[in-house]
Amino acid sequence: MLKKSDSIVLCISGPSGVGKGTVINSLLEKFPEFSLSISMTTRKPRGQEKDGVDYYFCEKEEFESLIAKKEIIEYDIYSNEYYGTPIGPIRESIKEKKDIILDITLAGSLQIKKLIPQAVMVFLLPPNLYELEKRLTERQTESKEAIKARMQHAKLEMVHASKFEYTLINNKINDTINCLEAIIVAEKCKYLRQEEFINEIIAQFQ
Ligand code: 5GP
Repeated sequence: MLKKSDSIVLCISGPSGVGKGTVINSLLEKFPEFSLSISMTTRKPRGQEKDGVDYYFCEKEEFESLIAKKEIIEYDIYSNEYYGTPIGPIRESIKEKKDIILDITLAGSLQIKKLIPQAVMVFLLPPNLYELEKRLTERQTESKEAIKARMQHAKLEMVHASKFEYTLINNKINDTINCLEAIIVAEKCKYLRQEEFINEIIAQFQ
């Protein structure tokens, strides 16, 4: 188990197409102290995606060897491909008390929460089923079959939204960002995240 710390490990989950990427990019602009965890995946690059920027793209054998070496803190199989979070940057963020965002599946967030209890879990929901399908279709990055598979996966994921601490309906992006901002500020105000400083102040009154 990783050590407790006052950094924020923010897991953002939600069905494919809900807008996690857009929300995360806006958040990174507003909170430059956050870094983004770059995942490993065995899926092929899509569109303009770059290795080491959007993902670390690798072959199945390499991914499995990283799992065996415990270099992946959590992983999931999505649309027959591996996706996982390298442990190094997470460890470093916690050690350096820095904030980090993870864009991961629901199962991935639940694994992280088990290992890092102070991690913050946010689930993004679409306003309705048809809107999700529309967003997936309009982004033109997947084939019809892939969209169908992603919609199927969404149906499985949505049932578990209640396992998350925070659930946000991503209807208007600005509203979602404002809510996330409020969540981050509230999390930063938690006693456990500021224990050291608060105790220094309290000690002056003893
Ligand atoms: P995409 O193929 O659209 O980039 O990602 C498919 C799904 O994999 C998304 O729901 C995304 O959040 C998830 N994902 C990306 N990286 C990781 C990871 O490191 N771990 C897990 N569990 N899921 C990931």
